[in-house]
Amino acid sequence: MKKMQKKIIVILVVMLFIATYLPNVSGKTNYEFHSYLEMTTELQDITNNYSNITKLYDLGSSVEGRTIWGLKITDNPNIEENEPEVRICGAHHGNELMSIELPLLLAWLLVENYSIDPYITDLIDNREIWIIPLINPDGRMATPVPTRRNANRVDLNRDYGYMWDGSGGSPSPFSQPEIQAIRNNALNNNFVLSLSFHTTAAYVNYPWNYKPQLTPDNDLIVLLSNQYAASSGYTAIFGYDWYQVRGDTNEFSYGCRGDIDWTIETGNSNIAKSWDNNRDAMINIIDAADMGITGIVTDKTTGQPIAATVWVEEAYWPCFTDPIVGDYHKPLLPGSYTVHFRANSYEEQVHIINVIDSDKPTVQNVSLIREDNYYAYQVTWCNFFDPYHYPDNFQNNPTDAISALGPPDNIFASLGLGGVIVLDMGKDGEGGIFNNQGDDFIVFEGDISPEGYDVYASVTWDGPWTLIGAGTGTSSFDLEDGSMENARFVMIQDDEEDGSEYATNPGFDLDAIQILNPSSVPPIMPDIDGATSGKAGKNYEYTFVTTDPNGDEVTYIVNWGDNSDEEIIGPYPSGEQITVNHSWVEGDYSIKVKAVDKYGKESEWAILEISMPKSKFNINLPFQNFLENLSNLFQVLQKLLFLRF
Ligand SMILES: [Zn+2]
Repeated sequence: MKKMQKKIIVILVVMLFIATYLPNVSGKTNYEFHSYLEMTTELQDITNNYSNITKLYDLGSSVEGRTIWGLKITDNPNIEENEPEVRICGAHHGNELMSIELPLLLAWLLVENYSIDPYITDLIDNREIWIIPLINPDGRMATPVPTRRNANRVDLNRDYGYMWDGSGGSPSPFSQPEIQAIRNNALNNNFVLSLSFHTTAAYVNYPWNYKPQLTPDNDLIVLLSNQYAASSGYTAIFGYDWYQVRGDTNEFSYGCRGDIDWTIETGNSNIAKSWDNNRDAMINIIDAADMGITGIVTDKTTGQPIAATVWVEEAYWPCFTDPIVGDYHKPLLPGSYTVHFRANSYEEQVHIINVIDSDKPTVQNVSLIREDNYYAYQVTWCNFFDPYHYPDNFQNNPTDAISALGPPDNIFASLGLGGVIVLDMGKDGEGGIFNNQGDDFIVFEGDISPEGYDVYASVTWDGPWTLIGAGTGTSSFDLEDGSMENARFVMIQDDEEDGSEYATNPGFDLDAIQILNPSSVPPIMPDIDGATSGKAGKNYEYTFVTTDPNGDEVTYIVNWGDNSDEEIIGPYPSGEQITVNHSWVEGDYSIKVKAVDKYGKESEWAILEISMPKSKFNINLPFQNFLENLSNLFQVLQKLLFLRF
């Protein structure tokens, strides 16, 4: 079916069931603004009444200790599934009351029509929809009147880390507990499309908000923005063209996570009217989250899902797989695309993928092969210094922070004079920097004129930061110089020494960070399982298993305790159980097994004491014992013969 035809039908269907079911919705909410407690009660009512398709999450607490609620609506809400995820949030600003009501009304509409309306049922079955109606509960409940800012008087929609610059009273990126809660939720879920409601205007505001250059996904974003605008009667607007904002949720969502996120500006007084304007448009966004390409990225050997990054050349901005399932969802318009699949410790793969249907994604599953390469995984926060003012911001620096991810490619992020970037070098257990012999990581500069910078490292995203050293141009660094054993986050700050802030691509030009030797953690001491007593000369099976905290392959070294040569077995994937046979001559032995990863890091020896033969066989089965002794003698003879010839 043609897209427009389908969209029209969709809108007609939505209008039809709204006409049928809206009384139920309005009966629940009777179009009155909700206090924090009233909203909490409604979210709890929804989860109690629709427990098969909802789950209510405590995302964190506000400054004054109020819970920030996240309502997940999907089939199988307790299971992470291969489904695109969509987030609808409201009330970064506590006085923008309408922005609480629209997500809440949407929640009611969805749950009340599940298994009644086939279109809504299909969306709930095939999406994971997160509704976070009130991000700033303290502002909402402030007295005598609700306030825009939170209880620390910070504008929460300036507290996000992508191109944060301290506006809105934000003392540092992600400084406020409310925004840390939203950040954690966004890092744990791979939102594809998101809406952030505000008042008071009639705009469909799309990124960027901080600079005049368009995003690489602009064609798709404009199409969806225009759809929203047509449905709502609002005006689609490129955020920067309206006014410049630094550190808002749209920039974080798209900048750090590849999630296309809109600021929707509505009225703040007539709930029925705002709901009528936005209802169908919101549902269209939920629907649109599965256009483009999708699939699962796994390890070719183990079949396990991978934390991978998907880069489409024609819309060059990363999206991330969900490491639990391995699924990715990249919205794209119909066309032919060259898609790069990258992951730390895996060989890159490139696929040409054709998107035919704008209503149905093209599926491309990918299995990657192990290879030693470790680069920055995602942008944690950044602040490129820009000397210009609106409407001329970043006219001399069109570079993007994500250009610092992945291997060196001479596409780089220019920090501006004194600018800062913080990069996450890997998910837990899949990367990170360790202090090994010699240098531990290389910082690559991406253009021909070397510029100076300082390098800091931290175990956690928000510090404390330890100075590791200073560099000019491409340089390598040793955690030892900061007396650090390991780090996951690297901060790079331009040293303000070189060049003009008005030059093209000012400041240090960060191309990539490569980890030189990512493994420091040895494998866990193996488990040995098998008989602890038995008959001499008989073969017994023993199983060994261990895991390597870095997920490296492991080789086992086995000492059977009987003066035979140590056996070296492997390598095997971390966690794979292996089985080995051995037999002994009469006596007591200690089987010793250790595991070694590919970097030569060794586990402790695991020891299993065994006895061959067990003494009761000596007493009760003398004949068998005699045969076993013969067999032992034969083995000894065999060994002697071997030695001689
Ligand atoms: Zn607002």
